[in-house]
Amino acid sequence: MKLANGTRIDTDIVVCGGGPAGINAALAAGRSGAKTLLIERYGFLGGMSTIALVYPWMTFHTTGGKQVIGGIAQEIVDRLQAEGASPGHVRDTVGFVNTITPYDPEVYKTLIVDMLHEAGVTVLLHSFVDQVNTVEDRIESVEITTKSGRFHIHAKQFVDTSGDADLAYLSGAPTLQGREGDKQTQPMTMKFRMRGVDLDAVKQYMLEHPDEFYKKTPFDELQELPLSGVLGYYKHWKEANLPINRDQVLFFTGPGPDEVLVNTTRVQGLDGTDVSDLTEAETLGRKQVRMVADFMRGNLPGFEKASLSSVGTQIGIRETRRIDGQYALQVEDVIQGKAFSDCIARSGYPIDIHDPTGKGVQAAWVQGDGAYDIPYRCLLPKRIDNLLVAGRCISTTHETLATTRLTPSCMATGQAAGTAAGLAVKHGCTPSEVDVAQLQAELRRGGALLDAEA
Ligand SMILES: Cc1cc2nc3c(=O)[nH]c(=O)nc-3n(C[C@H](O)[C@H](O)[C@H](O)COP(=O)(O)OP(=O)(O)OC[C@H]3O[C@@H](n4cnc5c(N)ncnc54)[C@H](O)[C@@H]3O)c2cc1C
Repeated sequence: MKLANGTRIDTDIVVCGGGPAGINAALAAGRSGAKTLLIERYGFLGGMSTIALVYPWMTFHTTGGKQVIGGIAQEIVDRLQAEGASPGHVRDTVGFVNTITPYDPEVYKTLIVDMLHEAGVTVLLHSFVDQVNTVEDRIESVEITTKSGRFHIHAKQFVDTSGDADLAYLSGAPTLQGREGDKQTQPMTMKFRMRGVDLDAVKQYMLEHPDEFYKKTPFDELQELPLSGVLGYYKHWKEANLPINRDQVLFFTGPGPDEVLVNTTRVQGLDGTDVSDLTEAETLGRKQVRMVADFMRGNLPGFEKASLSSVGTQIGIRETRRIDGQYALQVEDVIQGKAFSDCIARSGYPIDIHDPTGKGVQAAWVQGDGAYDIPYRCLLPKRIDNLLVAGRCISTTHETLATTRLTPSCMATGQAAGTAAGLAVKHGCTPSEVDVAQLQAELRRGGALLDAEA
């Protein structure tokens, strides 16, 4: 597609944001037969997975080990495995969840473009959506700014997978941000990788000093399990007394055999939708990376010869705007594993809140069969008729966003939004008017796992 400034583009479905939710939404929309355009501001797809080095994906399973996310998300894992770019789902040696899913981000970046092209989706990179034009309660077009000018994109249905609810916000649909009261959001984290790590030495140290690691670490199996993640080093971290408001070190192994991905920096009190705050966060995050890497090399057994191998293109943003949608998922819905008749996705990931102002993480696990339902209404904003939302900006509370935001869940809500948009185009109706039973049947046909007894 060669575009000149001011060109008008017409399509059936626009998906804004090429992260986990957007990729899955666009794949589902394209496979429905609708003409689909996926817009992404960076020069590659993947969202936080590739932009901010988020790794591994967690989780496709309940704490008890039952798989509750399938569909396109599982297909992506299968395709990665076929290319030798993922071991599939492996046991989590942190002990926080049952399985985690490592993957090679560079293979992922090209594989998803292949999959999108196979589904007939047009992908537009280096394109930032900065304006939404509405007529009454409908979005008529979005505008993108690019190196070759501005373009107007008209569509029948729009899917907001920007992570920040940009389309919803710009169209005037109500949005919320942060926790009740002070509106503070979960902190940002600049992730980084180190190579040259002696993982045998790390494991040996863990086996000899179990008290220095997370209490749920599966020590009785650790000797046999491949080391996939580590949480703790409480003593070393406390003694180092770095100016970072966190109480422990967290890293995951891979994708290289001597490589780890470190999730330990923490930037609090800044707004991921404010450009001044973002500038400060990027600067602070990179300073913290150097501090933590030096600390690890100088203090942690197994890291003596390790060196920094990569840092996120941008800081990882856990939480910004979310829609104030037709239903907001509640804490008790998650904890009680409540069933909803309009369930379009399930998840077994616990509520996992990185404290907006404190040092720790608050967690709460799902009861019942270990999974909860995400209702279709969480994907539907108020006020705007032809808009669906998927990924971390669906309608939740601050607390429940802390589970629905995880990558596999975002992939699952993305598939649901793309499928619903396809049905809305096919039937010439709004997403709210889509027959939920038909949507669920389409999702099941696409491999989604929606049934508690499945
Ligand atoms: C520090 C951190 C650690 C995490 N750890 C894990 C983990 O270990 N495992 C896990 O599974 N999940 C983890 N997550 C959660 C997960 O990475 C995100 O919540 C998830 O990526 C959200 O997916 P999304 O598609 O909704 O949004 P994003 O991944 O944010 O993708 C949004 C996409 O939209 C694009 N975009 C945004 N605005 C516009 C615009 N206006 N125009 C065009 N494009 C736009 C962005 O560039 C991006 O590609 C972590 C997140 C963070 C920040």
